Amino acid sequence: MAGRYGNDSLSRFLIFAALVPLVVSLLIGGAAGGSLGTVLWVIAFAIIIYSNYRTFSRDIQRRAAENSRFLELKSRFFRFFKKRREQFRQRRDYKFFRCPGCKATMRVPRNRGKIQIRCSRCGNAFIRKT
Ligand SMILES: [Zn+2]
Repeated sequence: MAGRYGNDSLSRFLIFAALVPLVVSLLIGGAAGGSLGTVLWVIAFAIIIYSNYRTFSRDIQRRAAENSRFLELKSRFFRFFKKRREQFRQRRDYKFFRCPGCKATMRVPRNRGKIQIRCSRCGNAFIRKT
């Protein structure tokens, strides 16, 4: 493995992701299960080849950049759900609005009637019912 990139978070994710089409393909009879089975099998195989290509690549800088981009997307994905979960937990006491100007999310106490909300990020003001 000298001079080769090796495994990273992205390659582990790719192997795991390849299992999905592979298992579905096997459930419907594999490559013998008709064209869908074949397509899914080819997709799984392509993902595994790509993952191996990355592992044995000598272009370490580029592979590391791909991995950090993947980690950034992954954390953005989990941040999105964490935010939704937090808003759901506070739904009795607060209402959440998106600023029509800059799309920032704002938290406003409930049951204050129709109020004007000023965005703390861009200063845009809008009226909403709480
Ligand atoms: Zn705004």
